[in-house]
Amino acid sequence: FAKQNTKGAPVFFSEKHENSIRDALALEQRLTEADLEKELYVEFQPIVDTQHNRVKGFEALARWYNPVLGQVPPDEFIKTAEQAGSIRVLTTLLLQCALKSMKNWPEDIYLSFNLSAILLSSTSCMQRLITIIEEAGIAPNRIVFEITETMIMQDFDRVIESLHYIRSHGFALALDDFGTGYSSLSYVQKLPIDRLKIDRSFIKDMAKNTADRNIVRTIADLCRNLDLDCVVEGVETERQLQLVTDLDLHYIQGYYFSRPLAPAAALAFAQVMNEKPPEKKVSNQNRW
Ligand code: C2E
Ligand code: MG
Ligand code: MG
Ligand code: MG
Repeated sequence: FAKQNTKGAPVFFSEKHENSIRDALALEQRLTEADLEKELYVEFQPIVDTQHNRVKGFEALARWYNPVLGQVPPDEFIKTAEQAGSIRVLTTLLLQCALKSMKNWPEDIYLSFNLSAILLSSTSCMQRLITIIEEAGIAPNRIVFEITETMIMQDFDRVIESLHYIRSHGFALALDDFGTGYSSLSYVQKLPIDRLKIDRSFIKDMAKNTADRNIVRTIADLCRNLDLDCVVEGVETERQLQLVTDLDLHYIQGYYFSRPLAPAAALAFAQVMNEKPPEKKVSNQNRW
């Protein structure tokens, strides 16, 4: 016998499938009912220039703590918000939250901010985000918008137009998770972008996997040829750092340097790393 749902129609889903649908609906409902202004926040992960041993910027990463669900991973709730139509509200809150922290940062540190490609196809939505940045008094050249390739492909012409619009305002653009989607040389060349971020899946096994190492080398070459900055994601070990440094890649984001941090910890991290070499000064308070 097939299980019967409340309307009497047979239900053929496997229990696992059933659970995941129920979970998705539950998540959507929680998200809709949540007090997002209280429950949403951002953490910041440093992007380090290893040639100068400096923090160049921070990527803002969305966090949602719900009293009932606990901490929900961004991969999950961002997808839910996209489907439920609340991604616009959510992104606005996250941007405001990130900009608030950014006001305490030194001027030479940028913010890298993930944009759901759904937002790119709405000029009015992008205009709203741009206005928020202007009103916060943050110079556009201190903001990088990260987009992933998968969604660009679905609405290519419209997205390209939107990317040009964003760049015409002085913002930079990064193609995130590069290598996991449909990336081809000809199409990357057509995108008005400033940087690529190599997906961390290629870094993970670089030490033992020559194929992955070759892919990273190829992406590094591509960036040089197209004059794009290249950020390496997911560097966790000394060995991985060595391998990417050998490929002349010097913008690194990963647990090796730091996990995503709360605002105060992020600022402290940058202050310590970017501090000028200490001058020799004699002070009574420095007896230790
Ligand atoms: P992403 O944009 O590629 O962000 C990098 C993810 O890799 C983050 O996961 C970060 O914590 C993780 N990561 C960084 N370094 C390492 C490392 O060395 N090892 C490992 N294992 N992981 C590392 P997180 O915070 O869970 O975010 C997951 C994804 O959720 C993001 O991937 C992004 O696609 C999405 N996301 C996060 N915040 C936002 C947001 O504000 N808006 C949108 N549209 N998407 C967001
Ligand atoms: Mg990102
Ligand atoms: Mg990424
Ligand atoms: Mg990712």
